[in-house]
Amino acid sequence: MSTLHEIIYENVCEGELYEKLDRDWVRCFACGHCCKIPDGQPGVCKVRYNRSGTLYVPWGYVGGVQCDPIEKKPFFHAHPGALAYSFGMLGCDLHCAYCQNWVTSQALRDSAAVVGPMHVTPAELVLDALRQGGRVIVSTYNEPLITSEWAMAVFKEARAAGLVTGFVSNGNGTQHVLEYLRPWVDLYKVDLKSFDDRHYRQLGGRLQPILDTIRRLHEMGIWLEIVTLVIPGFNDSDDELTRLAEFLAGLSPNIPWHVTAFHKDYKMTDPENTSAETLIRAAEIGKRAGLRYVYAGNLPGMVGDLENTRCPNCQDLLIERYGYLITGYRLTPQGCCPSCGAGIPGRWDPSFRRQVTAHPFVPRMHSRANLFVLNS
Ligand code: SF4
Repeated sequence: MSTLHEIIYENVCEGELYEKLDRDWVRCFACGHCCKIPDGQPGVCKVRYNRSGTLYVPWGYVGGVQCDPIEKKPFFHAHPGALAYSFGMLGCDLHCAYCQNWVTSQALRDSAAVVGPMHVTPAELVLDALRQGGRVIVSTYNEPLITSEWAMAVFKEARAAGLVTGFVSNGNGTQHVLEYLRPWVDLYKVDLKSFDDRHYRQLGGRLQPILDTIRRLHEMGIWLEIVTLVIPGFNDSDDELTRLAEFLAGLSPNIPWHVTAFHKDYKMTDPENTSAETLIRAAEIGKRAGLRYVYAGNLPGMVGDLENTRCPNCQDLLIERYGYLITGYRLTPQGCCPSCGAGIPGRWDPSFRRQVTAHPFVPRMHSRANLFVLNS
């Protein structure tokens, strides 16, 4: 039986996001590390590697698929109630000790992260998404930037089938990869994990490429929402949260900011779980900085009004939520407040189709992607 490394190294194609250098070295542009890679070696992410002066990148498999509410990504201002079909490959360019997707993201670094990749084509994935009632397809679970070529192949099929496309990403991008994604990505969520470069270095990255990515995505007009997992003792100081929120508000007060609760996971088990009081404090900081849409997540029913969308002009309640569940929806077909007519930024549908998860969510059929498990 092949090892995970052998499977990864066999399911590849030539990358599109790199340049050839002297002596069979290459430079990859898929993420902010911009690895300069000698012949025979992988990049930091361990899934893109140089063989004889050609960069090979992951192709033709997924580490997992799932269909769930778009609110879970979370996108709160894009197609509310839609089912989002999520897929991911393996590997990541960071190594966060608290990763909640470590089984896929750290599969190449941590032998405890055992997953069986499933062999699939872009057309099969899109068909699976449509069969399950997905209206949005999202590249997530691992870091999608490092598998951008595969995501674009899937998104081209998805667009042709009428699906909306999205990335759920750590935001460690480059100008090069964002220009590559721009024609095919509708929605982009960035995890802005901290506003302190020392913290980012602990996670294996740097702050500046993430800030540059957020700014570029906003300038490109891709719909952008930001999430900060608030971890007690790591990134929850008033000072750090204020600087982070002021950065976002400086780009646009209309960028939704989700502050979400940490729970002990993977290798980070020391900090206490985030309390509702801490989330409410973070959200107040965001609002003081000028952000109009600040949400508190992962503690349903414990954060007062901070799960809901209100009109920033007249304070009317527009979308009411309990966790991922939409319990009230009053936006006009044009995405405006019905009381004062103010436009609410986002990607709205002409009408709110009842959320599938308003009832127990049962996919119309189970995913067929698991029919293609490699090595089976
Ligand atoms: S995706 Fe990032 S970590 Fe991986 S090889 Fe390219 S630059 Fe390096």
